[in-house]
Amino acid sequence: MKVLQSYIEDRWVDGAGAGATIADAATGAAVARASSVGLDLGAALRHARTVGGPALRAMTFAQRGALLDRMAKVLHAGREELIDISRQGGTTRGDGKFDIDGAAGTLAWYAVLGTRLGDRTYLLDGEPEKILRSARFVGQHLFVPRQGVAVHINAFNFPAWGMAEKAAVALLAGVPVLSKPATATAPLAEAIVRRWVASAELPAGVFSLLVGSAGDLLDHLGPQDLVAFTGSGETARAIRSHPQVLALGVPVNIEADSLNASILGPDVEAGSDTFQMFVSDVARDMTQKTGQKCTAVRRVFVPHARLPEVVDAIVDRLAAVTVGDPEAKSTTMGPASSAAQQRSVVAGVAALEAGGARVVWRGDAPNGGSFVAPVLLQHDGGIDAGPVHDHEVFGPVATLLPWPGDAAEVVASVARGGGGLVASLYSDDPAWAGEVVLGLAPWHGRIHWGSRKVFDQSPGPGTVLPNLTHGGPGKAGGGEELGGERGLRWYWQRCAVQGDRGLLERVLGVPVAKT
Ligand code: NAP
Repeated sequence: MKVLQSYIEDRWVDGAGAGATIADAATGAAVARASSVGLDLGAALRHARTVGGPALRAMTFAQRGALLDRMAKVLHAGREELIDISRQGGTTRGDGKFDIDGAAGTLAWYAVLGTRLGDRTYLLDGEPEKILRSARFVGQHLFVPRQGVAVHINAFNFPAWGMAEKAAVALLAGVPVLSKPATATAPLAEAIVRRWVASAELPAGVFSLLVGSAGDLLDHLGPQDLVAFTGSGETARAIRSHPQVLALGVPVNIEADSLNASILGPDVEAGSDTFQMFVSDVARDMTQKTGQKCTAVRRVFVPHARLPEVVDAIVDRLAAVTVGDPEAKSTTMGPASSAAQQRSVVAGVAALEAGGARVVWRGDAPNGGSFVAPVLLQHDGGIDAGPVHDHEVFGPVATLLPWPGDAAEVVASVARGGGGLVASLYSDDPAWAGEVVLGLAPWHGRIHWGSRKVFDQSPGPGTVLPNLTHGGPGKAGGGEELGGERGLRWYWQRCAVQGDRGLLERVLGVPVAKT
C-alpha cells in the first residue's frame, strides 16, 4: 500500500505509525496511508518563515508570477497521470479534468497578474493623503507581505484546485505556503506537490505539504502567520477558537458550508433559452463532482405555475446521468469521495425528509463503494422549510421550493439559509431581477444572473473564477478568496507611513508631488 509523505523543511518525510487509511471511493479497497505523527511542525513553520519568506519577498511580482507559471505548466504536463490518480477519490475523467484544469488555470491566471504587477516587491495603496495643512507632511498607505506562513487547510472535494488556488494567491502575494490536504483525497495533492518539487524550481522553503491529520500544527502559529481554511462549519469553529489563533490574533479566512440557491424568475417561459439555462445549471451542479462542490445548488426556487415543467425538465436531465465506476467511459457521475461522505449524504436526505421534504425523483446507484444516487426533493414550506435552509447535504441532492413569484419573498427565503457563496437567478425582467440582485447581494459573495442573451456563454454558477471573489458571509464562513488582486490583500499588511513627502518619494516610490 502506498505510504504518503509530507514535504517539510524541503525534504520528503514519513509520519510515524500506521496513520489513517485512505480508500478507493469506487471499491472501498484501502490504497494508501498517511500519518503526521512525530513530525516537528514547529520546525516546519519556522523553516518556511525564515527560508521561504525572505526568498519570496526578495522576488518581484513578475518573478513570483514566473514561479506560478512553472507550477501551472507542471500540472499541464502531468495532466493525464494526475487525472488517473484523482480516480481514487471517485472522480470521473470529466470531474478530474475540472479539478486539475481549474488548478492549472488559476495558477496561470495569477502568473499573468504577476507579470502585470511587474518589478515591484510591494505595492502602494492609493495616493498620498494630505495631513493637516502642509503639502509636505503626507501619509501613504503601503501593502507589504506578512512575514509569516500561509497555512492552508483544504477540503476533500478539490484536492488539486483547492490547493492550487490558495497557493497561487499566497505565493504571488509573497507569503510561503504550508498546505494540508484533506486526508480522504490526499494522494492527488501529494502527487501534485511531488511534481512541483521535481520540476517547478520551487525556491527553498516556499512550499510545504503536510499529509495526515493537522496534529499540533496550530499550536506553532506565529503572529505573522495566517490560516485559510476550507471545510465544514464545525471544523471552522474549532480553528477560529484555537487558543493560539485567539492569543496572537492570527487572521483566519473561512470557506465553509453554503446552501446555494437557484431562482427561476416568474417571467421565464418553459422551453425558452433562459429556462434551459436554468435547468442545465441546476442539473449540472447537482451531479458534477457528485454534488460535492461548495458552490453546488442545494435549493431551487420555482414559481408555482412553472413547477410541473421544471420537474419534468430537471428529471429528464438527471435520468440521463449514469452513476458508476469512474474508470468506465459510460459513467457520468462517480461515487462520493469516501464512505464517511456517503453516510453523510444518506443521513442528510433522511434529515430533509424528516423535516417535511418529499422525494420527487431518485436515481439508481451501484451497490458497494461509496456510491450515492441523485435525489431531487420538494418542500412546500417556503421560508419555513426548516432543514432545507439549515442543512447542507454535500452530494447530488437538491430541493425544489415552490413560491408565488414575489421578489421580496424569495429574497427573504434565500436569506433564511444564513449567507451563501453563490446564488443564481434566471430572468429577462430587469425590474424583478434588479430587486432580487440587490436583495441577495448582502447575503452572498457572488451572484450569477442567467438571461436570454448569455444563455450559451456562461460556465454556470458552480465554477469558481480566479478574477471574481469566492466566499460568502455568515454560514458560508465570512471568508473571501481570489477576486484577482483583491485576493492578494489578505496576505498583506496595510501600513500607513506618514512623513516628508520628498523622503517618501525617494524611499518608497510614492508618486512625485504635482506642481
Ligand atoms: P472538514 O471535515 O471540516 O475537513 C476540512 C479540512 O480540515 C481537512 O483537511 C481536515 O483534515 C481538516 N481538519 C479537520 N479537523 C481539524 C482540526 N481540528 N484542525 C485543523 N484541521 C482540521 O471538511 P470536509 O469534510 O473535508 O469538507 C466538506 C465540507 O467542506 C462541506 O461542508 C462543504 O460545505 C465545505 N466546503 C466548502 C468550500 C468553500 O469554498 N466554501 C469548498 C469545499 C468544501 P482531515 O481530512 O485530515 O481530517
